[in-house]
Amino acid sequence: MSHATTLRQLIQQASALLKQVNCDAPMRDAELLLMSVWGMRRTDLIIRASEPVPEAIETVFNALIQRRMQREPLAYILGEKEFWSRPFHVTSDVLVPRPETEHLIEAVLEYFPDQQGAYNFCDIGTGSGIIAVTLACEYPKAHIIATDISESALRVATGNAIQHKVEDRITFKQGDMLQAIEQRNAHFDAIISNPPYVAEHEMASLEQELSYEPRNALTDESDGLTFLTDILNTGPEFLQTSGMIMLETGPCGLPDTPETLIFEKVIHDLAGHARGGIYRCV
Ligand code: SAM
Ligand code: GLN
Repeated sequence: MSHATTLRQLIQQASALLKQVNCDAPMRDAELLLMSVWGMRRTDLIIRASEPVPEAIETVFNALIQRRMQREPLAYILGEKEFWSRPFHVTSDVLVPRPETEHLIEAVLEYFPDQQGAYNFCDIGTGSGIIAVTLACEYPKAHIIATDISESALRVATGNAIQHKVEDRITFKQGDMLQAIEQRNAHFDAIISNPPYVAEHEMASLEQELSYEPRNALTDESDGLTFLTDILNTGPEFLQTSGMIMLETGPCGLPDTPETLIFEKVIHDLAGHARGGIYRCV
């Protein structure tokens, strides 16, 4: 008589393996991977816990667990990550969307409360396109220019714009920071960016998962401030009168505010750490 592994047993075995390699949420990861492989909803994990797992499902699932055991980010294995309650396709060509970046969306909504406004926004270093696509969804009359140095990232972002049916209101441009944009066409209401800000000396101490992400999405290979400084210095030329700049940052903090801008306020994360800055053009 065969003793096929039940759903519950398989999750427990996989979770124990992930725990051994110090994954921070082993049970959640095992559950999400099985749901993805078996095409299940979360409630099925409970309702069908005693069901034997088909061998084909178990084989594919175990292969994904092996990848996660190498500390490959879950989002790359699933090919998807949620941001502002919407699913985004992600590959190893783009940074995995982080919950902290949702604070930039909150800041835009705070300073631009009229969601029917026909604003012009700019997202620099768009990666998977989360900022540009979310703003296009939240502001159905807005136009967004989204830039990245990486052509492969822009392909992922374009796919996400199509998936969320906002591709007609986002212009993607490849290039170095604001140089990607023709200045004479740009009078943005706001420039929003989560640029690479990890200092070079911090790179070696990051979680293993981050070694799978594009290095040039994480670090400026310097003190972390290079791109933040560049956006604050060159941004005002691309803004409307009273236009805004909203930046995410990390442990490197924020650069000195240039004379062309007024510092409005610090963005804090849920733990109370300073994670960004909001500026207004004088
Ligand atoms: N906006 C996305 C997000 O919040 O998840 C991605 C942010 S990631 C931290 C930074 C992005 O900046 C990467 O997609 C990277 O390719 C891009 N980047 C790096 N250097 C750049 C440059 N010189 N000019 C434009 N984009 C750059
Ligand atoms: N938030 C990323 C981290 O986990 C860094 C992203 C960035 O450099 N913008 O360190």
